[in-house]
Amino acid sequence: MYDRFNRRISYLRISVTDRCNLRCSYCMPSEGVKLMNHSDILSYEEIVDVVYEAVALGISKVRITGGEPLVRKGIVSLIEQIALVSGIEDLALTTNGILLADFAEPLAAAGLQRINISLDTLDRKKFRATTCGGELRKVFDGIEAAKRAGLTPIKINCVVRNSSDEPDAIAVRDFCSSNGLEVRFIHEMSLSDGRFTIVENGHGGDCNRCNKLRLTANGMIRPCLFSDIQYSIRELGVRNAINKAVGMKPEKGSVSVTGNFYNIGG
Ligand code: SF4
Repeated sequence: MYDRFNRRISYLRISVTDRCNLRCSYCMPSEGVKLMNHSDILSYEEIVDVVYEAVALGISKVRITGGEPLVRKGIVSLIEQIALVSGIEDLALTTNGILLADFAEPLAAAGLQRINISLDTLDRKKFRATTCGGELRKVFDGIEAAKRAGLTPIKINCVVRNSSDEPDAIAVRDFCSSNGLEVRFIHEMSLSDGRFTIVENGHGGDCNRCNKLRLTANGMIRPCLFSDIQYSIRELGVRNAINKAVGMKPEKGSVSVTGNFYNIGG
């Protein structure tokens, strides 16, 4: 499927939860947020239905996000069901890595192909401070487990304040090159200010080439991260919501005042 600007829409990012086991300062306030009611969150059956319809319409790449997707119970069985949908060429997941050491093997066995892991600093104290208590050791264990499970290429998402020449970014870059990992630098974004740039070593933020749709944890199809346009699959039906979203996909991102990174999935 193509949008009004002749961009081929082939990539669906699915947020399976707004919950997370960390509180990264640039994503979620340390005191936490008002979470969605469980009844608002899509069931796995509903998510798999969306994937079948989306693939029938031309989606070939699916990424599972959150919040933190590994905190949602039964996530391995969801991956298993999505991996069975014929027509998916690329099935990936983005995680903060904290639980990955226990999940890497079962996810790979379920059909997950590759993984992105968030890592902004190698400084244990700074990591604990910016994530409100996260343990850096667990992320390193998760990376090693992902390597053993063959979830490659492993991409590291490193959020930088202003530049990839910041000391933490340089340290992460060196760590990645000496560990066979691919690093991408994501400059801090602001949905409400409409502040975003193109991801270094990635495609995110490049509106001219955008091929994305997003499914939020509560069943909204959003054609753009930096927009408030959204269509409910529960109200309109999956196919209708997807077609409306593609039809209304903006040429460029602007601002979003209704969305949050933790419930849209970045
Ligand atoms: S801002 Fe919107 S159009 Fe631009 S790359 Fe992001 S999702 Fe695509």
